[in-house]
Parts: sequence; structure tokens; C-alpha cells
Amino acid sequence: MSTTKYIFVTGGVTSSLGKGIISSSIAKLLVARGFSVTIQKLDPYINIDPGTLNPYEHGECFVTEDGAETDLDLGHYERFSNVPTSQANNVTTGVIYQSVITKERKGEFLGETVQVIPHITDEIKYRIKLLATRFPYDFIITEIGGTVGDIESQPFIEAVRQLRWELGRNCVVVHLTLVPYLAAAGELKTKPTQHSVKTLLEFGVQPDIIVCRSEKHLTEGIRHKIALFCNVAPSSVIECIDAESIYDVPILMRNENLDLEILQKTLMPSDSVPDLTDWEQFLYAMKHPAGEVTIGLVGKYVELKDAYKSINESFIHAGTTNGVKVKVQTFHSEFINESNVAEKLGDLDGILVAPGFGERGIEGKITAIKYVREHNIPFFGICLGMQCAVIEFGRNVLGLEGAHSTEFNKSTPYPVIDMMEIQKQISGLGGTMRLGAYPCKLEPGSHIMDIYKAENISERHRHRFEFNNEYLDMYRKAGMMPVGINEKDNLVEIVELTGHPWFIGVQFHPEFKSTVAHPHPLFVSFVKAAKDYAAR
Ligand code: GLN
Repeated sequence: MSTTKYIFVTGGVTSSLGKGIISSSIAKLLVARGFSVTIQKLDPYINIDPGTLNPYEHGECFVTEDGAETDLDLGHYERFSNVPTSQANNVTTGVIYQSVITKERKGEFLGETVQVIPHITDEIKYRIKLLATRFPYDFIITEIGGTVGDIESQPFIEAVRQLRWELGRNCVVVHLTLVPYLAAAGELKTKPTQHSVKTLLEFGVQPDIIVCRSEKHLTEGIRHKIALFCNVAPSSVIECIDAESIYDVPILMRNENLDLEILQKTLMPSDSVPDLTDWEQFLYAMKHPAGEVTIGLVGKYVELKDAYKSINESFIHAGTTNGVKVKVQTFHSEFINESNVAEKLGDLDGILVAPGFGERGIEGKITAIKYVREHNIPFFGICLGMQCAVIEFGRNVLGLEGAHSTEFNKSTPYPVIDMMEIQKQISGLGGTMRLGAYPCKLEPGSHIMDIYKAENISERHRHRFEFNNEYLDMYRKAGMMPVGINEKDNLVEIVELTGHPWFIGVQFHPEFKSTVAHPHPLFVSFVKAAKDYAAR
């Protein structure tokens, strides 16, 4: 295929309408028709990336193969399309300004006055088109963060206006909006949609397709009204009704012909049929589980829906593979202690101790791990969760009283988790951790190798601390085995406990690689262990 086509996804009326899910669903449908697609997100905030943002601000920080700390929507892109994203797939206002200011300091603008238009918008346009220079994608979907009318997203909308003009039929704008149902009037209301399209028009952008989030079906009358007021064909008014699961949305969008509308508007061949057989099988299995397991998620951001997004989604994928529904019950680690741990965790079929930073809630995680280790309850520790398992084992099995990570106690007598050498020289915070995919070699004959069915794996990381190799022999002799090693830097990436049915800690984040098409083997195996434990 020759020219890359650009799909812009904007949002109106309110935030949280699900632009990420719509973008991911479009990608899924186009990939299912055999097109090559990538998705990028433009975020209007000034941080360079969400890596330094508190999860309370922005939910989970998703890590790509090449080590970019990105918006959690990139996780949806990968889970839906099964195509990995990269640094170039998430651009913030901070990145744009940093790059323009760096060029200005180098004198690259030859004395010109540097302005939002054209310099900032040119940089945005350059970033939008960058992915096409790396691979001849058929489609690049660009999700514009925020809501039209926000001051901070204006330069992005302006860049879309300019690109529309340059790209002509190689570009389509999909506007996602809300059609609220007013119970008192018993009616769906189109006015907020009309207003948000008018706002887009004020910036010179006419949307081609309007996707309407709604809790009730759109009547023909409503579709015509939106079409009439917003200058689009009635067939370009797409209903997006509230769904039971985000994974229903590609099917809903196919039924509304969203992909067909896009293909026709961009003059692309539309005679193919999206092959969604696997996706539909997944949906059927997800909705018809034969049983249920309850897994405890122990972390410190548990009240926050989006903080452990990828972990929750991985459980949906793994549960479906196992034919069970995984009920994830969250536990705030700060409130777990010796006297309530049995009551809180005793009835669970497995526990996962979550990744994290900072000391708050650490002792509760350690207490939870001691309990599940002693009671043979399946245990899965991710990143900080693995580090806590090492600390717990050091203190309670090896008798290393006061063992800790130097992240939390610099003067611990037993620094069983310590800062990596390469991290010691680094002072800045953004993008300075061990980030992205690293190879790991598995120990033949280990439980973990049986799970992966491979000797060499690659997983994504985001941490500064690691297992302290000075204690390796002690741990090995007592049964906590280092079964995954990064050979180049001699780092312990995986530990497993001998004599326990399922006790695995990983220094990396397997949750970032679980997709609908490829549920992650570790999650699949952990849920299987929980199922076996429940049936004991
Ligand atoms: N805080 C720990 C570290 O930096 C763990 C990080 C994590 O769980 N992602 O090593």
C-alpha cells in the first residue's frame, strides 16, 4: 500500500469518554482487515512523560519495549491490536516545547521569533508523521488527549487543522462525544454534541465521523439530527452504547460500520471483511466462565481504578484462558498486620503483591507474603512485590533480622535488595530507571521454565533496586531459587520457592505484555494455580 492514512481521534463534552478504547477498537478492526496500523497519543500536559507522575494523578504508567514511560492508553492499544508501541507513540506538550526550545538554543531558527504557530505546531506535525518514516503503515491513529476547548490542547487541534488541509483524503477526523439521557425528560439530548462540534469548527476542524457515547440506543431521528447540525452524513453518526466490557467495543464499532466509514472516506479498499473469529471466541469464553477464583491484589493505590490497569486486564486474559472469572479483591497494604492477615487473606485463592515505590505499606506487604508462603497459597510478586518476598524470606527464614531494601532503610544490617550500580550515579528522576525490555535466561528444570516453555525470554522493566547478589548462596541453600538471570549484568530477575505450589517473584512487569491474542503465560499459570488451590 502506498500512502499512509491518518486518523485523528478527538474528544468533546467531557473527559473519560473512552477515546483510548475507540482508538484501540479502530486499530483492532483495521488490523483484522489486514492493514498495518499504529496508534499514538498526544497528551497536552507539560510533564515530559507520566513517569514522574503520581498514580493518583494519572493512573498506571505503561512501559514500552524501548523503555518509554507512557500513558496507560498505550496499554489498551497493545492489548487490542497486539502491536507493540514505542517512545514515539506518546508525545506530550512537554516533549514538544523541550525540543523546540533546544533547537532555539542551538540557533536553529536563525534569529526568527519562535512562536506557537508555526514552530510548536510544526513540531507537533513532525511528531505525528514520525512513525510513518519508520514503517510504511497503512494507518496511523492519533488520539488527541483532553477535550476540545481546553486551552492546553489548542496547539494540537491547530496542528490537526493544518494537517487536514495538507493531507486531504489521506486523513479523517473522528470526534467522540457524549449523548446524555435525561431521565426526567425521557430523552437523549444532542445539544452537548452540537456544541462540542461547534467548538471544533471554531478551530477550523470539521469532523468526518461522530462517535456518540450513550447509555441508550440512538434513534434514527437522533442520528439525523446530529448529522444535520454537525455537517456529516447520517451513516457517519456512530452509536457507542455503554458496554459490559471494553473488549465488546470493537464488535460494537464493527456493527456500526465505523471501520467501513473510515475506509471509504480515506479511499482505501473496503472489500475485505474483518476477521474477528479469535476475538469473538475470546469474548464468548470471557462471558461464559465455568467457575470463579478470587485473587487478592495487595498494593497501596488500591482505591484507584486505573493504578493497576495492566494487572487487572492481564487477569481478564488469563481467567478467560483458564475458563474462570478472576475476581480481583484489593487490599490496602498499609492496613495489613499480623493480627488481621489471616482474616483478610485466609479465604483467597492466590495473592499478587503489586509494584510500587516508597515505604508506605511495605510492612503490610511483607506480612501478607509471610502468610501466603506459610499457608501454601499461590503467590505472585511483581517488581516491588518480588523485592518484598526477598526481604520477607531474609527476615523470617534466613534469620536476617532487619533485612530490608536500601530504598527504605539505607542503614539496614542486611541490604538484601540494593540499588543497582548503574543507578548510583544518577541524580535526576525522569526516565532514569532501568526501563524497557531486557533479556533473561531461565534455569533449566525450574518451575518458571516450565511455565514459559522457553529458555530465553524478554520482559519489560521499571526499577532502580535489585536482588543483592552477596546473599545469593544463602537464599539458594534455603530454597529461594534465582531462576531467571540477566547474564550481561548478572542480575537476578526471577525467584521461586522450592516446596511451595506456586511462589514466584519477578523483577520485571509481565502485565505490560499480556494481550487478548497472547495472554501472558505467568498470569495464565498463576490463575491455574489459584484454580487448583480453590479446588483442593
Ligand atoms: N521501588 C522499586 C525499585 O525501584 C520497585 C519498582 C517497581 O515496583 N516498579 O526498584
